[in-house]
Amino acid sequence: MTTERFDVVVVGAGLSGLLAAHRLSAAGHRTLLLDKGRGVGGRLATRRIGDGVFDHGAQFFTSADAAFAAEVTRWREAGVVEQWFDTRLEPDGAVVVDGHPRWRGATGMTAIAKHLAAGLEIRTASRVAAIEVLAGDSDAGWNLVLDDGSAIEASAVLLTAPVPQTLELLEAGGVPLTADDRQELLAITYHPCIAVLALLDGPSGLPDPGALRPASEPLDWVADNQRKGISPVPALTVHAGPQTSRQLWDAPDDEVIATLLGAVPGLSAAPVEGGVQVQRWRYARPETAHQGFAKELFGLPPAVLAGDAFAGARVPGAAASGWAAADLLLTRLSAVQA
Ligand SMILES: Cc1cc2nc3c(=O)[nH]c(=O)nc-3n(C[C@H](O)[C@H](O)[C@H](O)COP(=O)(O)OP(=O)(O)OC[C@H]3O[C@@H](n4cnc5c(N)ncnc54)[C@H](O)[C@@H]3O)c2cc1C
Repeated sequence: MTTERFDVVVVGAGLSGLLAAHRLSAAGHRTLLLDKGRGVGGRLATRRIGDGVFDHGAQFFTSADAAFAAEVTRWREAGVVEQWFDTRLEPDGAVVVDGHPRWRGATGMTAIAKHLAAGLEIRTASRVAAIEVLAGDSDAGWNLVLDDGSAIEASAVLLTAPVPQTLELLEAGGVPLTADDRQELLAITYHPCIAVLALLDGPSGLPDPGALRPASEPLDWVADNQRKGISPVPALTVHAGPQTSRQLWDAPDDEVIATLLGAVPGLSAAPVEGGVQVQRWRYARPETAHQGFAKELFGLPPAVLAGDAFAGARVPGAAASGWAAADLLLTRLSAVQA
């Protein structure tokens, strides 16, 4: 059986991977995206419970950067995003008008990823288990081993999983990182976040705009997805703060649910029986920033790491990093081909 080969394999069909893949494909490189998830989007994540629709990863995003603002305009024109609010939610409950739009997916955050997925070659439910350097000359490329035992070759790889997970894949494949690269990447760490999603038996009672940012732990964020405009019925997303998420990480779901829902100020409805779920994000948000927009691995076939750890711990940063990583790879690939 012959092994498939692509110019570039992008690991991860979150925002950074999807935007990078568009740029690489537009430049004429045959590009494949692999994602272990059932769908695309990564931390742009929307889930249904009954009739309720919940964003359980990223909640909204801003668009201050010019290149990202232009991209958001295209999404808005395609009906993929809408403005949620244009105020700053202060931890003391104050709402300060600053005129900067806070965007949401029109039907939830995954709408953005689904929109970007059109026209790309993507395989979901495809978990990469190891990344190996192919034997041969220095430009022989890469072999990606999937957890079903199959393999795919690539001239270059663009790696967007949270950095500790990318390091595990490189280690599993015995990739010899330089000491500097290893040290730089090991320094990148993430905060966890536990999310509780609760279908409610009535209106949540949250203040405008249907969300609040509590002043301190245990909660980091509470949002009413009906007021947000993505759920036809009251549907609450509650995010624990980093410290609480670490403390409750191994606790039973019942304890997590009781602690977090019990801490929501002014909640005027109760969860529907069977309508509550817990999602644990081990790598929710980077806590240490990397200096560059993307990270090329030295002394190896073309390989670049990207994602929100490289250009800011949020949606706009993930976008900027995806583009920067694609540009780095394009430079490297054109040098290889010259
Ligand atoms: C709870 C929470 C709340 C947040 N709130 C906000 C917010 O309000 N505003 C904001 O701007 N940002 C927010 N963020 C951050 C935002 O979601 C991220 O910055 C952004 O989505 C990261 O995109 P990415 O492409 O870098 O990574 P990801 O979206 O994580 O994409 C990486 C992809 O790699 C895939 N993957 C991993 N390992 C493998 C493997 N072995 N094989 C194949 N695929 C693999 C994953 O399935 C995933 O799809 C939040 C995040 C969380 C978790």
